[in-house]
Amino acid sequence: MAQLKTLQVPVRGMDCNECVQHVQQALSSLPGVESATVFLASEKANIQYDPTRVNLFVMQKAVKEAGYTIPNESVSGSTPSDIGPLINFRQHISRLLMVVFAVMLFSLVIGEWLGLFDQITTRVPWPFGLAIVLVAGYPIFMGVMRATRKRQVTSHTLMTVGVIAALIVGQWVTAIVVVFFMRVGSYTESFTTDRARRAVKNLTAMAPQTARVVRAEKEIEVPIAEVQIGETVIVYPGEKIPVDGLVIDGQATINQATITGESLPVEVSTGSHVYAATIAQLGHLRVQATQIGTDSTFGRVIRLVEEAEAQRGDVQRLADKFSTYYLPVVMIIAVLTLLLSRNPLATAAVLVVACSCSIAMATPIAMLASIGLAAQKGLLIKGGKYIELLARADVVLIDKTGTLTLGKPQITDIIPLNGLPEGDVLRLAASAERYSEHPLAQAVRTAAQQQYITLLEPSYFEAMPGIGVRAQIEEHQITVGSRRLMVDPAPDPLASQLEAQGKTLLYVTRADELVGMLAAADTFRTEVPEAIGKLRAIGIQHIELLTGDNERTAATLADKIGITYRANLLPENKIQIVKEYQAQGHIVVMIGDGVNDAPALAQANIGIAMGAAGSDIAIEAAHIALMREDWLLVPEVFHIARRTMRVVKMNLAFTAVYNVVGLTLAAFGILPPIWAAAAQSLPDLGILGNSARLLRDK
Ligand code: ADP
Ligand code: MG
Repeated sequence: MAQLKTLQVPVRGMDCNECVQHVQQALSSLPGVESATVFLASEKANIQYDPTRVNLFVMQKAVKEAGYTIPNESVSGSTPSDIGPLINFRQHISRLLMVVFAVMLFSLVIGEWLGLFDQITTRVPWPFGLAIVLVAGYPIFMGVMRATRKRQVTSHTLMTVGVIAALIVGQWVTAIVVVFFMRVGSYTESFTTDRARRAVKNLTAMAPQTARVVRAEKEIEVPIAEVQIGETVIVYPGEKIPVDGLVIDGQATINQATITGESLPVEVSTGSHVYAATIAQLGHLRVQATQIGTDSTFGRVIRLVEEAEAQRGDVQRLADKFSTYYLPVVMIIAVLTLLLSRNPLATAAVLVVACSCSIAMATPIAMLASIGLAAQKGLLIKGGKYIELLARADVVLIDKTGTLTLGKPQITDIIPLNGLPEGDVLRLAASAERYSEHPLAQAVRTAAQQQYITLLEPSYFEAMPGIGVRAQIEEHQITVGSRRLMVDPAPDPLASQLEAQGKTLLYVTRADELVGMLAAADTFRTEVPEAIGKLRAIGIQHIELLTGDNERTAATLADKIGITYRANLLPENKIQIVKEYQAQGHIVVMIGDGVNDAPALAQANIGIAMGAAGSDIAIEAAHIALMREDWLLVPEVFHIARRTMRVVKMNLAFTAVYNVVGLTLAAFGILPPIWAAAAQSLPDLGILGNSARLLRDK
């Protein structure tokens, strides 16, 4: 079998969940297509296929037959998907339709009350009515025919049967009203979907499109896709930075709100990292491009938000399952109604009242809205699944270095032992740490640099996660790390004293002999106590610090914020603790920074990464990434999750009750088809309004 290729194409014309299923089916039933994932929010499909057996043209054709389109300019470039102005236009139409809807509903009430419809029905000839039904309902009937040819039953199929039933018994005014409300329903649906998409689209719209690069000593403007890595990009005041990169010249204040959600500007100068889609406010910059387009931090965020839909939680799956069983159940009720009451109008009413779309829409719409909105605040949530889980989470575990602290420790004390001079201790430690990426290693190297110490080249280097490093320098084995490294960890009064100040002690050994100790102090994140207080306030009782650091340092920090702790943990112990909580039935949130704790983040039900902008590991490993170094985002994301789930549950309960009541009234002939038609389009409006509350943020 040939190598599989992955293609990302835009798909147009999808308004609700049913459509997503149809496109997905159309694509995956093609021979040669391995898998197809279709996204409603971003209107695109990710297709894995065998290029020797199927091509884009065939896929376009299949999607077209299902009633949707893959536009021709479709193959994905390196810019995130862009949007056209069509949405605004559609929104205007939809608003207009709402008004028409209200007027129609009003005239219906008056008309029924005056007995107007019966009069019209008797006076105007039947074929005239039939013609109106056919013309007005043309797009819907075509859709139903297409679905039927593919042996699919949609809610429109049932309603069409209802329309036919009404026509047969001569109630053509009823048929017209039903068709009208079907059209209104379709529009409300696409309107609702558009609304929810908007938050995501707003984000996408901020992606840079062009860059000014220096080529042959001239500045030229090129599309983003043509920028090469390593090229120099010029950014003028007020402009969007087009790529992720390193500032090689200039100074500027930058608004990074697109990524971090924080609009307070940050200062950058030569050597700073800058991110695509952030805005240079003052000053001008020369930036060397390091990551471009979908590989940039912003591109990655957009991709993850767009694809968040694929991560569905239990509630959402339940809703999906329900909507697949719903239509057959309605059909059975309709048949029973016809058999028992022999009332074709009641049967028609049953078929008409049961539009399943709002059930299918209730959850994804709310999830979409929340994920999109959260992204604008610097909170990257990778799927509805995590919103669901977070709303129920009851245990929060917190990593120390880089999470509770800034992760930028500084060496405060150097204690030489066994006669070695201070400078030599630092030289040995920094040389051993030369190739370690741990924040403590950086601290040791910085301390050496400040004393102008030249480093030695280790001939062997090994990082021991959660413990320290081991290296071969000249003829000796050197280790730097926690007390675990010591063969005889005799308690040292000075060490205890430093630890009691919340400092991390690093033991430096040479050929298994202790030659010195280094104390490192890291800055505590000041907003942590407030954030923890907020978590307690919403009822999270288990909050625990998990650290590889020593007992005393852990205790000092944990006491400061009033949480429990476990110290001296290896990365695998952290995973073990997460698993233990899970085994007791808890839903565990792990908050870390992606350094040494990525496996624990992944094991937790919800892994939250701090300060993920600029850290690819953190973005990839976590389920929720905080793009800004701000602990208050933690209670915020809990809050968003709970609010979203409240809306989702309300939506579901509302639709369920509404449909049960509607079906019952219809089956007993109490709800005439005209009213059924109006009634079925109401839940969509309700869900729209309810979910819109999520978009309206204080
Ligand atoms: P935390 O759990 O606080 O995030 P880690 O698991 O990264 O910390 O590390 C735990 C302990 O292991 C540190 O406190 C330190 O004593 C030691 N350690 C880990 N990596 C290094 C290193 N590169 N150099 C020195 N010590 C290290
Ligand atoms: Mg850590």
